[in-house]
Amino acid sequence: MALPGMPKKFKLLITFDRIIIKYAMPTPKDHTRRKFITNLSLSTAAIMTTPYLTKAANFLKTDDSYNVGQIMDMFIKIVPNAPFASTVDTLKAGSRDTVVGGIVTTMFPTIGVIKKAISLNANFIVAHEPTFYNHTDDVSWLQNDDVYQYKADLLKKHNIAIWRNHDYIHSLQPDGVTTGVVAQLGWKQYQKSAAMFAINPSIMLSELINHAKKQLNIEKVRYIGDLSQPCTNVLLMVGAAGGQRQISAISTLKPDVLVCGEIAEWETAEYVRDAQSEGRKLSLVVLGHIASEEPGSEFMRNWLQERLPGMKITHVPSGNSLSFA
Ligand SMILES: [Zn+2]
Repeated sequence: MALPGMPKKFKLLITFDRIIIKYAMPTPKDHTRRKFITNLSLSTAAIMTTPYLTKAANFLKTDDSYNVGQIMDMFIKIVPNAPFASTVDTLKAGSRDTVVGGIVTTMFPTIGVIKKAISLNANFIVAHEPTFYNHTDDVSWLQNDDVYQYKADLLKKHNIAIWRNHDYIHSLQPDGVTTGVVAQLGWKQYQKSAAMFAINPSIMLSELINHAKKQLNIEKVRYIGDLSQPCTNVLLMVGAAGGQRQISAISTLKPDVLVCGEIAEWETAEYVRDAQSEGRKLSLVVLGHIASEEPGSEFMRNWLQERLPGMKITHVPSGNSLSFA
């Protein structure tokens, strides 16, 4: 899909999490790959886009060490139309050449998560969300900020590399984060499309909420609706999809309930309230952004562990930032 005025070489990919603008690039000749694959020609290496073949290629490595760039490339190679010319999935600390001693996967690379990584002797953090409080991790406005300085110094002192894996994991087919969430909810058998689920037999809204809380380790959720409403058709939109996309999806897919990560109160919540006033049976459950996507970091841990069997890889949940009074 393209936007008016957008050059043809750009594709607009709408995921249920965010909008990603992709640029279809030819696969570049990869210098890092040459270092760790000894007996494969580049043309053979080009077919190494399936997990199976990537795994097989590991046996051809000359030693057991990996650097940050090799591990990043290993994942990027399985993503359709990757690498992307425009992406937020860049290194936020450290360098591609850092030899990896251990890996931590997480939603947010908080100072707490970084300290946990240090205690685990892990020097590579694969995070889903920003390190420095804005989508592109622009730090120019933070140069005089104490919190930023402390975090940046901590990373530097312990030589920790952080890679954000957001656009790439969401661009897997199917979306890696949603795959992790669906597995944790135990809803695979109900899945009808990327985001729609038909729960059979139907469950009451209260049961759905309790199930989500238990499976995703959530203390409390916010919701709109009648707790005794039967729910069959569930629209699941993890993360912060944005009001217009949440409302458009409700309008098109007509679910009984939208289960999402995060809303703007003045957008989706007001739409759901008006839909109820109009007589529709529509509910809303807000899980919290972190809780709704943390299973994606578990997915990432498992993906890496399968391919790097000798590496210590730990999923460290970043936990909820907000408490309920
Ligand atoms: Zn996400």
